[in-house]
Amino acid sequence: MSIKKQRLGIDQPSAQSVTSRSSRIKPAVLLPAVVVRRSVVHGRGVFAVHAIPKGSRIIEYTGERISHAKADRRYSKQHETSAHTMLFAVDANTVIDATQIGGRARWINHSCKPNCETVAEDGRIFIEAIRPIRAGQELSYDYNLILEERHSPQRKRAHPCYCGTADCRGTLLGKKH
Ligand SMILES: [Zn+2]
Repeated sequence: MSIKKQRLGIDQPSAQSVTSRSSRIKPAVLLPAVVVRRSVVHGRGVFAVHAIPKGSRIIEYTGERISHAKADRRYSKQHETSAHTMLFAVDANTVIDATQIGGRARWINHSCKPNCETVAEDGRIFIEAIRPIRAGQELSYDYNLILEERHSPQRKRAHPCYCGTADCRGTLLGKKH
């Protein structure tokens, strides 16, 4: 089965880091800061309308909140033949499915050297800038995709990355813990 879900960044999936973030002063939400349009990376993308300072909370990853089992049932066929996914694993119980009902964050593309990261807070997922972003720049974060099965070289090739950065690892798949 090739069901794939986006995950929090490799460096910050632990409960501790999530908790410490909740107690931090929250950055301002800059909802009108982004626009969806065609991307050179893949299909549509999300672009900064104006400069976004490092550390800004930009947008929430919204969609239908479902169980892992339900996500697996819904997409086991489609994911077998496509590298594309709009599923985000929040924790062991919940997946955000942005396939049918989702906000603009679902159009943010993957990069191996992204300018944003995903942050979990109280069961919600937010996209925050980890570098200063210029007006007109495309937003990206590391999808860190996880499959049920082993991330074999063949599986990695089936999920190619075209981000084009010097640090590109060649696949959308993340590291299994
Ligand atoms: Zn890449």
